[in-house]
Amino acid sequence: MTAKEKRNALLGEKLKKALQKRHFEAYYCAQADEAVKQVLELMPQGSSVSWGGSMTIRDMGLTAAIKAADYVVYDRDLATTPEEADVVYHQALGADFFVTSANAITEEGQIVNIDGRGNRVAAITFGPKRVIHVIGLNKVTRDVQEAISRARHTAAPINTSRLGSATPCAADGVCHECLSPACICNVLQVVRNSFPAGRHIVVLVGEDLGY
Ligand code: SF4
Repeated sequence: MTAKEKRNALLGEKLKKALQKRHFEAYYCAQADEAVKQVLELMPQGSSVSWGGSMTIRDMGLTAAIKAADYVVYDRDLATTPEEADVVYHQALGADFFVTSANAITEEGQIVNIDGRGNRVAAITFGPKRVIHVIGLNKVTRDVQEAISRARHTAAPINTSRLGSATPCAADGVCHECLSPACICNVLQVVRNSFPAGRHIVVLVGEDLGY
């Protein structure tokens, strides 16, 4: 085991305990492929599943694995128009499982997301019976303020670059606290406790996943 793997295993265990105190169900997987298996095990076959716009869950092969298995999938990636996407966003609210990553998680187990449209934070907050958050340990921050800063100053400018958004951060890579109509930082969410207990499941991964 390398020094980084050892540190991540320790941090993963610490985070699991912090999350369990907040009534989350929590798992630690050293590698992304283990996490994919873990998520599939958590969702009984035949369940309805949807997800947010996270690149993490796509890059690690999780969405492909879900689509290849026996689930009813509400797949926003198949929408060809904004109207079709809107239908899927609403279907997602009635799914058995909503799968997402996060912009950041604090050392004490609070999960922070910043959203443009709000469909992801809406599904995390209410609707799907259970929410599975798959989070690489590269997204651990000291506290909520640092988590918000990470979302705003690291994740968002990369996302606007990826999306080609008409925002100032897409032009120079740093946040300008914009009020642009194309801003992707419109809603801020902190999940500090799972209600009902166990509705939120966190699968921590000891690898750098997403941004
Ligand atoms: S410039 Fe606007 S869209 Fe870009 S990170 Fe800052 S608030 Fe978000």
